[in-house]
Amino acid sequence: MSAATTSPPSTRGVAVAVRDIHLAFGSNRVLRGVDLDVPAASTACVIGPSGSGKSTLLRVVNRLIEPERGDVLLDGRSVLADNPDALRQRVGMVFQHFNLFPHKSVRGNITLGLTRLKGLRKDEAAELALHHLDRVGLAHKADVRPGNLSGGQQQRVAIARALAMEPEVMLFDEATSALDPELVKGVLATMADLAAEGMTMIVVTHEMGFARSVAEQVLFMDHGQVIEAGHPDQVFDAPRTERLRRFLSQVL
Ligand code: ADP
Ligand code: MG
Repeated sequence: MSAATTSPPSTRGVAVAVRDIHLAFGSNRVLRGVDLDVPAASTACVIGPSGSGKSTLLRVVNRLIEPERGDVLLDGRSVLADNPDALRQRVGMVFQHFNLFPHKSVRGNITLGLTRLKGLRKDEAAELALHHLDRVGLAHKADVRPGNLSGGQQQRVAIARALAMEPEVMLFDEATSALDPELVKGVLATMADLAAEGMTMIVVTHEMGFARSVAEQVLFMDHGQVIEAGHPDQVFDAPRTERLRRFLSQVL
């Protein structure tokens, strides 16, 4: 029960709970009572058709959008009253388009947040950046500009950038969807390594192989609701609803 005062790479004791989240854009009810529980050090994959509300759900967890109703708890405590900037240091997010600063080195992309948001000295930030680049296998690219890297390498830099903030939870929103097919594997391998190291992760993905082999839990969303959730074997091999069966027949 004592508050975690250290933040080593592993995230023991932390979990995400999403409770009855409702959100509409105008008359478009995008999230209609979403619940989600991610035990510490586990990976939940969210699958579902385009427009079903997956990105919006991640944005609610990261406080990029405020829900109309419902709660988000980290480590058992509601975060909706917290300062969103403080929360974003606890929750890392990786997007489809990695948005690295083109005129900064790979290292510079990572140290920026560490000096500005965490108040680290430049030398401390540079050392930490190297450590996290090493985690994604790119320490040797620290001095290169992002434009000289492949899309897959750039996405791994974006992952390292998020990791450098030492988040308790990592959110991935279709992190491989913008990549050329031959680059997808390396990014998925990095994500699988993170999961194996004990990171708590929520992963929106169309990569069903990844979901099956890495996730402890798969959630199928449609029209703003979680229609089915369970162990990947159950969700993929024994779908209970016609909607999930139809979705799987289209993507598998
Ligand atoms: P998914 O990630 O599953 O494809 P999204 O969460 O992006 O779905 O979108 C769900 C619905 O919300 C869609 O109908 C989309 O058009 C709408 N939507 C998403 N973001 C916004 C926004 N900022 N303003 C208005 N409508 C939005
Ligand atoms: Mg999306």
